[in-house]
Amino acid sequence: MADTNVDWADKVWNPSVGCDWASRGCDYCYAMTMAPRLQAMELGLIAKGKLDPARAKYQNDGDPATSAKGFGYSEHEFALDAPLHYRKGYKWFVNSMGDVFHRKARPEFIAKIFAVMAVTPQHTYQLPTKRAGRMRRLLRSDAFWRMVGRAIDQLAVSDEAKAAGREVLGCLPNLWLAVSVEDQDAAERQIKHLVATPAAVRWVSCEPLLGPLDLSKWIEHLDWLVVGGESGSQRRMDLAWALDILRQARGAGVPYYFKQAGTVLAGEWGIRGKGNNPDDWPEEFPREFPEVQAA
Ligand code: SF4
Repeated sequence: MADTNVDWADKVWNPSVGCDWASRGCDYCYAMTMAPRLQAMELGLIAKGKLDPARAKYQNDGDPATSAKGFGYSEHEFALDAPLHYRKGYKWFVNSMGDVFHRKARPEFIAKIFAVMAVTPQHTYQLPTKRAGRMRRLLRSDAFWRMVGRAIDQLAVSDEAKAAGREVLGCLPNLWLAVSVEDQDAAERQIKHLVATPAAVRWVSCEPLLGPLDLSKWIEHLDWLVVGGESGSQRRMDLAWALDILRQARGAGVPYYFKQAGTVLAGEWGIRGKGNNPDDWPEEFPREFPEVQAA
């Protein structure tokens, strides 16, 4: 279990991995780029007897038109219990290497992920998706929550933890659900589903930001806005768009987190890398969290 270099989370948890292109925000998907290398690395470790093939995650190739070698969607039961091993509470980024609500994800498997989150109130889970329609349908379905209840019964945790987990079925208080939107089209497609999904915290990841965003239709229902530009050699974020979202956030009293400038804008600021260190920025951009985090 690697710690994450995503600034707003402590750890990543990837019980499923792999994905397919969903919108132009996926054009330079870092996970899709990394998967072939991870596949080669796993094969090397397997050849040396250092990795059990049953614990390899990137051996399923995706459709070359929409995915990549090693990036076919796959589910990994052995990875489900990772958060159960930590008594101390952490902020987890759920699925940095795919999308929990991918169309191939089985509801039973998604239910197992939710069962683990339900019985670990010490943790906070941050789960962004580009499949908000599927997320909404599942999380509004009684059948899905019954599946989560059955998955809780199967977990190797105390009866008290199971009982506490069953109490929160329907809306997990430690789950921050997000949609990733890169432009107005994506916002129109995704945010309406987010605001209609039961969630303790709803946030929008405006990253990589590829166009101006007018969030006025939904902003009253949002708890957090995260904004960032692209890593890599592309330049697609205009700082004016990020500042306009800050203006909207201020107007509605929504916390705003400027994650990174993106490589090209950072270069223009004379910074190496993707510009994610606030100490390097030429001016201050907010890095705020929703208040519930302090609870
Ligand atoms: S949805 Fe996310 S993980 Fe899937 S291809 Fe797009 S950016 Fe990558």
